Amino acid sequence: MPKLELDLNPVTHITTDALGKPGERVFYLQGSQNERTVTLLIEKVQIQSLAVGVEQFLAEINQKFPDLNEATAEYSEAVMHVTLPVDPLFRIGEIGLGYDADNDQVVLVAREVPAEGEGAEGTGVVRFWCTRSQIRALVHWGVEVANRGRPLCPQCGEPMEPEGHFCPKKNGHKH
Ligand SMILES: [Zn+2]
Repeated sequence: MPKLELDLNPVTHITTDALGKPGERVFYLQGSQNERTVTLLIEKVQIQSLAVGVEQFLAEINQKFPDLNEATAEYSEAVMHVTLPVDPLFRIGEIGLGYDADNDQVVLVAREVPAEGEGAEGTGVVRFWCTRSQIRALVHWGVEVANRGRPLCPQCGEPMEPEGHFCPKKNGHKH
């Protein structure tokens, strides 16, 4: 199998989103370079750990290059939903981050989960070249999307925390 290798350099837009019912949601990472759009499958937990990783990574960059401005995390929800139809190229296994200081660009490297019996050399890889603010907005929005997926309480309709939920409809009894 020829290895699929793509560079979106630079992305004009990058986002993540979840589609489907609560509890059955499927998460996507989607980047575009002008008219070209690449969609990949991602797990919620991968978005959450990417969010932690990106913040650490950006802090390190700012330490190393103190003259750089701080990346913004601002996004407009209206443009952060994935473009339909989604046609994912592959499911992401490993995610890496890199920095090109000359162009002040962060690269998000998404590697395909290797098929059974296949080494990493046969898998696809997509590199999304972003501004620091684009990747920071991506993960801030991603955490928001991940949090929205908490199951809703059948009594009151509020999201339930994994450790339990004090339900106003049950006079604060945990269930
Ligand atoms: Zn409740």
